[in-house]
Amino acid sequence: MSQVLTPCPNFIGGEWQTPSGASTPVFNPSTGDIIAECPAGGAAEVNAAVEAAHAAFPGWRDTPPIERARIFFKYRQLVEENFDLLCKTVSREHGKTHAEARGSIFRGLENIEYACGIPTLLFGDSLKNIARGVDCETINLPLGVCVGITPFNFPAMVPLWMYPLALACGNTFVLKPSEKVPLCAVLLGQLLEQAGIPKGVFNIVHGGRESVDALLTHPKVKAVSFVGSTPIAKYIYDTATKHGKRCQANGGAKNYIVVMPDADVAKTVENLSTAAFGCAGERCMAGSTAITVGAAGDRLMPELIAAARAIKVGPTDRAAQPDMGPVITAAHRDRVLSLLASGEKEGARIVADGRGVKIADAPKGFYVGATIVDNVQTGMTLAREEVFGPVLNVMRMDDLDAAIELANKSAFGNGAAIFTNNGRAAREFTMRVKAGMVGVNVGVPATMAMFPFTGWDDSFYGDLHIQGKEAVQFYTQQKVISSRWFGGDVGDVWKK
Ligand code: NAD
Repeated sequence: MSQVLTPCPNFIGGEWQTPSGASTPVFNPSTGDIIAECPAGGAAEVNAAVEAAHAAFPGWRDTPPIERARIFFKYRQLVEENFDLLCKTVSREHGKTHAEARGSIFRGLENIEYACGIPTLLFGDSLKNIARGVDCETINLPLGVCVGITPFNFPAMVPLWMYPLALACGNTFVLKPSEKVPLCAVLLGQLLEQAGIPKGVFNIVHGGRESVDALLTHPKVKAVSFVGSTPIAKYIYDTATKHGKRCQANGGAKNYIVVMPDADVAKTVENLSTAAFGCAGERCMAGSTAITVGAAGDRLMPELIAAARAIKVGPTDRAAQPDMGPVITAAHRDRVLSLLASGEKEGARIVADGRGVKIADAPKGFYVGATIVDNVQTGMTLAREEVFGPVLNVMRMDDLDAAIELANKSAFGNGAAIFTNNGRAAREFTMRVKAGMVGVNVGVPATMAMFPFTGWDDSFYGDLHIQGKEAVQFYTQQKVISSRWFGGDVGDVWKK
């Protein structure tokens, strides 16, 4: 029986438009069914969206920040009222469990709340009398048309990292969501329209590389925010900056969690398991490698293996919820399986095996069960590459120095965490580990809206990160105004 497909229009100049050309299928990963067709996009659609955003810029820039903030207060309310629908859309197009989807939308909502504070976030500095009779002030002005290009793994949260703050700063925006999960973006756009965003201020253009390239090279685009895999992040950063745009490009990751011998076993297992297998491991902050120090490995492994084996995998698009959903596509599942096969071939041991998991009532879904690989060694492909699936590598080291040295060899630098009861070990780790976001007994130290998302090395290309005050700086340019009024000394005007 053929399914009714969910519409997936572009949003350009305040009009919802479904182009008639090529498209790519959007799957429900729980069932393997096609649920929508995502328009392929391209230069014509991108040009129309950028032109609409460019035309809307002067009016939006000159709208007082408090009035812009009011739209985001309204938007916040609408997102909250539509929370369940958004969660179901995330589960349906991405495969997150309802609980994971709720968490992700909540993180997105916090970004809208942060944007509501724009009148104070935009404050500049001023100093009277920097020279005799001369005053100086800095003002923070928007850039113009900003662009967001987002990945599949957080269909609502990552777009929400970008456009609420960019718009609140007075910019206009073109969002290019992942072609694998475009439906949440459409829903979020409809809610923003309902909140009263003026026509052309916010636009959505779908598609893949062709749309991206047209955005990166369009002369009227001023800034590009990107989140996705490292090779594409590097390409985006190089191309955008070559074309004179500001760019912040978040890439992939391989995050290490060091477990010290004194760590609380039950709490560590619970956190490690969530960090590795939450969202089926499809998180840039997933704790994908545990480095156990000394006796920690033998203390931890029996409970860790039992926890992984107890994780129930299944479809997330119905009322009864599993512990973990599918991965995004059949091709991605096959990649995860092939990385596991390479690890085994190179001498690692699969001690909790999620391969070959079969779901009776969803036989065509894209499933991999929670998997733990022990004895992973530095040179292995599995140790180097981002797996982005429900796979936890275990590497064993003799002491904290060796564990830090191992973690610091990674080309990435997104997150790292330590589990210990020893403050001295925690301090040493937080100071020396080469990662932008560090957790102490926190398995997924992903930052909230008021702090920047501070990836390092191959996890980030750019200067100013997404979220927090750094993002306000990214989405604004400063002007410094020095003023002098001729006619005498201070007080003269009052004498007349
Ligand atoms: P991806 O790089 O394949 O795609 C991201 C975006 O780039 C999509 O919108 C896609 O359409 C576009 N794109 C893909 N190939 C392109 C090409 N050749 N030219 C131009 N544009 C292209 O990433 P993904 O698979 O959707 O997402 C998963 C990746 O994102 C993982 O590596 C994950 O670690 C990373 N990620 C990073 C963060 C972070 O903050 N560091 C957050 C979430 C996800």
